[in-house]
Amino acid sequence: MTRDTAIQLATHCYESGAFLDDLQRRVAVRTESQEAGSYALLRAYLDEELMPTLAAWGFACRIVENPVDGAGPFLVAHRHEGDDLPTVLSYGHGDVVRGYDAQWSEGLSPWRVALRGERWYGRGTADNKGQHSINLAALKAVLDARGGRLGFNVKLLFETGEERGSPGLAALCAQLRDELAADVLIASDGPRLAAGRPTIFLGSRGSINFRLDVKLRDGAHHSGNWGGLLRNPGVVLANAIASMVDANGRIAIDGLRPPPVPDAVRRALAEVVVGGNPDEPAVDADYGEPGLTPAERVFAWNTIEVLAFRTGNPEKPVNAIPPHAFAHMQLRFVVGTDWQNLQQIVRRHLDAQGYTMVEVEVERGMSATRVDPDNPWVEWARRSLAQTTGAQPVLLPNLGGTLPNDVFADVIGMPTLWVPHSYPGCSQHAPDEHMLGPVIREGLQIMAGLFWDLGTREAGVPGSNSAFHLPRKFTGGLRHEQ
Ligand SMILES: [Zn+2]
Repeated sequence: MTRDTAIQLATHCYESGAFLDDLQRRVAVRTESQEAGSYALLRAYLDEELMPTLAAWGFACRIVENPVDGAGPFLVAHRHEGDDLPTVLSYGHGDVVRGYDAQWSEGLSPWRVALRGERWYGRGTADNKGQHSINLAALKAVLDARGGRLGFNVKLLFETGEERGSPGLAALCAQLRDELAADVLIASDGPRLAAGRPTIFLGSRGSINFRLDVKLRDGAHHSGNWGGLLRNPGVVLANAIASMVDANGRIAIDGLRPPPVPDAVRRALAEVVVGGNPDEPAVDADYGEPGLTPAERVFAWNTIEVLAFRTGNPEKPVNAIPPHAFAHMQLRFVVGTDWQNLQQIVRRHLDAQGYTMVEVEVERGMSATRVDPDNPWVEWARRSLAQTTGAQPVLLPNLGGTLPNDVFADVIGMPTLWVPHSYPGCSQHAPDEHMLGPVIREGLQIMAGLFWDLGTREAGVPGSNSAFHLPRKFTGGLRHEQ
């Protein structure tokens, strides 16, 4: 049995329709975690869909209730082959955003996978049922190719609350820290850089949402009688924001700017071109931090966004000075940003600028993560993907968006490799969510190759906590195990 056998079995799973059957069943379970009363369906996805499959493959499975009241349960599964073998942790989420059934195009439903050309439509195809289904099918292909062995140990964690902000995930990972410890996380979520570009990302930017409020008085006052006498909260708020971020998007508060882009990150991004895909907006060449490439601006830097801004009544404006203005703001940030002190940092800045009347309230935030691109696991994964696809994958130090990757990278503590099987035009979280058939097929092959290599000493699996050989530094080429 060879690496090629595993890849052929994974390809067959796609071509025989077996993958579609699995995905069809999974998409049909309406796991809308944002709906009150979704617990039974979330639980059913784990109990009735994933557990029987995994149990048949030799996984010991159990449901772990969420430490957060009312939030969806977790599935923890183990398959142990030997103490001297490397151990991988993988993760997926079984919940999806709401279906919004009525908004899908003619003939499509969120709860039935429908194929139109290359597109496989259905809620959760891209996020995340399709992606974790690819990884499970690839594990099975390797298991079959090795005659019932993987050559490594697997731990799986599925949550059912990701679309609600992963309630309880950090607490669970802290509680099961030893049980979930592994040499590496390999998981799939989010988009490739572009549909035709196999991608590895090593973490994600963080995000923190905050609200700015200017409440100056109780009611509105006629702008003719009072204009020039009363401070306008809309003017104050617009200027306060302008003091934080300039007209070209450059962040003007030192405390919210990241440290300089590390050399290894800069090198990894040197080849990365963002945008230019069909249906994507054109990148604004003169927006964002000066001196950075577009890829550095989105993957290696911070941005302040105005998500919503309101004063007066925009639907029915009147000639009056409104009493109140507010804005919903967001900072997207990379590793090294002091985001946990955002409230005090913004407060100090606004006070120093004379905007003492602007209130700052932090709503919620999630950490940024990034594995050093020079980590030996990164090179190992790059080689594996290149061998499978015949081309160098795109390497992103982190995703521009945000994933709960800090629980793996920081709470449990391991290098994190994400190999996404979706693409930027997938309509994730919107009507007509879909995956692309060719990306599914290639994703199955990539993951079969990656899991094969993990169980192959010759593939130079990096040194690990387990006794499973190896030098920290990657040496030697790949060769097929016979
Ligand atoms: Zn999502």
